[in-house]
Amino acid sequence: MSSDSVDLVVVGGGISGLGFAHMAARKGIRPLVLEAGQRVGGALCSHQFSTPEGDFWTELGAHTCYNSYGNLLQILEDLGCLDGLLAKEKLSYRLLTPQGIKSIPSQLGFVELIRSLPRLFSLKKQGQTVVGYFAAIVGAHNYRRVVGPALDAVICQDASQFPAEALFRKKPRRKEIIRNFTVAGGVETFARKIAQQPALDVRTGAAVSEIRREDGGYQVITSEGDAIFTRKLVMAVAPDVAARLLAAQMPDLAEVLESIEMVQIESVSVLLPAQKCGIEPLAGIIAPEDRFFSAVSRDPVPDDRYRGFSFHFRPEGLDIEAKLLRICQVLGVQREDVMAVKEQLNRLPALRLGHDVLVSRLDQLIGNQPIAFTGNWFSGVSIEDSLIRSASECGRLCRNA
Ligand SMILES: Cc1cc2nc3c(=O)[nH]c(=O)nc-3n(C[C@H](O)[C@H](O)[C@H](O)COP(=O)(O)OP(=O)(O)OC[C@H]3O[C@@H](n4cnc5c(N)ncnc54)[C@H](O)[C@@H]3O)c2cc1C
Repeated sequence: MSSDSVDLVVVGGGISGLGFAHMAARKGIRPLVLEAGQRVGGALCSHQFSTPEGDFWTELGAHTCYNSYGNLLQILEDLGCLDGLLAKEKLSYRLLTPQGIKSIPSQLGFVELIRSLPRLFSLKKQGQTVVGYFAAIVGAHNYRRVVGPALDAVICQDASQFPAEALFRKKPRRKEIIRNFTVAGGVETFARKIAQQPALDVRTGAAVSEIRREDGGYQVITSEGDAIFTRKLVMAVAPDVAARLLAAQMPDLAEVLESIEMVQIESVSVLLPAQKCGIEPLAGIIAPEDRFFSAVSRDPVPDDRYRGFSFHFRPEGLDIEAKLLRICQVLGVQREDVMAVKEQLNRLPALRLGHDVLVSRLDQLIGNQPIAFTGNWFSGVSIEDSLIRSASECGRLCRNA
């Protein structure tokens, strides 16, 4: 057991925690990031399949960044990484139907769409659920058959009760930057680049197991038994994890955090020889009423020899062979064509109407205590939504640095 004292501990080495740490370091504070897993990135999870020609990556979590991701782009610019951005080829998501894989427009009812679309100009997202808002602007039938499943695919869960305003928030674009991008090796590379900079201390395999208030700061204990005293603390973990860690010391805060639901997603990536997979290149597959929500393809960064797909399954505990059977049926390949497989358990928040009230309550309870909360459970779940929260909380917590 060792004992340290630092200015800032960040619990969680996903993009929210690493982004916060980067921003704090730019303000002259040296952060220590404690990450439970053996790698940084959290839901930025790019798997490298080994092939005779070198590594081929697939994305088990986030896969696309946009030129509207201002905070991410600023971090990449600070790190001198903007030149390495890779454009993703413009390919479409397609819909899995009983008749096969079809284009989305071919499945929409155009009469209903034309009748409903004018509501787009009068209906506000605020205070509406996803189903309330989107079913109104595309029509109930189109929503049920096409748009609902597409939105479920975006957040890998039943999106119907999600607040509409938490999806597709408008953010200013940096027009000089590629519109949709990734990077060689996959988006986890961004997390690793942030973590590798000398201005940050990052420990992986360091799960925080206990937090105590002490001497105007916090004593952070890891499962290895290390104790670290910090003047400022950032919780960049899921709300249920933060609730568990703070329940004894900050029960009011923990109660708010506990009320935010999380869902699980069972993700499976497969590597295939390109010549064995006959389906035309696509960005991904949306699967209404199937065992999986969506499949994300590596096709937007094409490769002559291999194709890769990540299927995001509902948390129904299907075993891996049953998942692979379904994957092979959908892709029209044989089980023996699958060269390699990688599984990953993902989690995302299931936000509900009134979430903004919970966040206000949380911020009120934090007051001027030297603790901050960040993550993908504030204004939305995207990488940039997470970094927007990190930026505003870093501004507050590190104001006098
Ligand atoms: C399948 C999928 C696809 C997605 N696609 C996109 C996309 O294309 N574009 C986009 O913008 N967004 C996408 N997202 C959303 C986005 O990737 C995530 O919301 C975002 O990366 C979350 O970052 P985070 O740091 O808040 O949380 P996480 O990435 O979950 O990080 C939290 C970290 O905390 C660690 N941790 C947990 N408990 C402890 C503990 N006790 N002590 C220390 N560490 C702990 C975890 O190991 C984890 O690394 C996708 C998400 C998923 C799941």
